[in-house]
Amino acid sequence: MPLPRVSLRSFLSSAKSALHNASQQTSPLTFVIGNEAADLDSLCSAVVLAYLRTYTSTSPANTLYIPLSSIPHTDLSLRPELLPVLSRANLKPSDLITLSDLPNLSHPSRLPPEKTKWILVDHNALLGELGKIYSGRVMGCIDHHDEEGKVPKDCGDEPRIVRKSGSCASLVVEYCREAWDTVSAKSNDSETAKWNAELARVALGPVLIDTSNLENEAKTTPADVEAVKYLEKWITAGEGEGFDAKSYYKEIWTAERDVEGLSLTDLLRKDYKQWSEGGVSLGVSSVVKDMDFLLSKRETREEFFDTLKRFSQERDLSICSIMTRSSANNENGFQRELFVWGLNDKGVQALKKFEAESSNSLGLEIWKEGSLDSEDGGLWRKCWQQKKIENSRKQVAPMLRSSMTN
Ligand code: ATP
Ligand code: MG
Repeated sequence: MPLPRVSLRSFLSSAKSALHNASQQTSPLTFVIGNEAADLDSLCSAVVLAYLRTYTSTSPANTLYIPLSSIPHTDLSLRPELLPVLSRANLKPSDLITLSDLPNLSHPSRLPPEKTKWILVDHNALLGELGKIYSGRVMGCIDHHDEEGKVPKDCGDEPRIVRKSGSCASLVVEYCREAWDTVSAKSNDSETAKWNAELARVALGPVLIDTSNLENEAKTTPADVEAVKYLEKWITAGEGEGFDAKSYYKEIWTAERDVEGLSLTDLLRKDYKQWSEGGVSLGVSSVVKDMDFLLSKRETREEFFDTLKRFSQERDLSICSIMTRSSANNENGFQRELFVWGLNDKGVQALKKFEAESSNSLGLEIWKEGSLDSEDGGLWRKCWQQKKIENSRKQVAPMLRSSMTN
């Protein structure tokens, strides 16, 4: 029997309490966790899947699925795009459960792996500190990145889905919609309708933002189109007035670009992923403003590169990379830039290989007469305009990683 259904806000509050009282729990804690870049898709997919699994699961145990955002609590403030989405669901960023709610990972009192179970959304390999401790306890995933072959093939009652889609949230909705219909059919009251609309707002935000309101043909898949249709139905039913997806999309799009006040370091770590292959480590920051904006954050180029170097040293990187995705003043005129910096021999070697193999397929053209490029003292850096704008970090990071291994 699943637990009796409550609002999203009460659900998050119960899940947080369960985590804070972990030492008194007898049954294992089940987490649903997004990836370490913790973008809107990761955060919302985790909340929606955890909520629906908690209140619809047909397994005999009353499992409370805990949605975990893979960042410390203070980093939620780097994500203004959360605000229009959460407010529609009667939530605040502080309602989300973050790494700050976990017992200290380096302390002996941390959660023992055997007392946990992990479902991944928006990634399919648990990396970083969490991965070192808990990767053997991953028992399901729903994701739209390249298959990493790390999640067990048979996940029993839990999903194991890795498939292309604009947004991971669309795959979550596809997986849960039958159960969502069934649980909603049990109570035909206005409270249930309100809860459904709140949940649908959370699921819809990332689908709209990741597919540009279904208008980006290169990214949009049938799962995204179906998810939008399905979620709109709940929003219209629960909010009782005409729902306009375009204006919801624009509101989130505008909030996402409200990063003028962030420091260069905060912009670099806002949407950041890191990998390690064959002793070479790569960090890729995805930024919603262009290189000129990033450069303007420091007085001089020297200071700019000093900040980048410090950022890389703190993370022990051989390769520091920045992908910008910007639009002039509106959602048209979308453009990408790619900056890479090899910080030791192995990093430089990998990047030269990457340049030779991927320049054509990514449409790389030297940025502003090579004014950021340099080869000096065993370091090598280059910046390009990336003309093939359909390739996001989802495509570029695997290319960089493959040049690090072969
Ligand atoms: P990762 O999967 O590693 O997080 P990423 O964050 O770089 O990769 P995506 O999540 O695919 O890339 O896209 C990030 C954002 O960029 C999306 O929210 C999407 O709105 C925007 N975007 C991507 N391509 C376009 C495009 N052609 N036009 C407008 N916006 C785009
Ligand atoms: Mg992303």
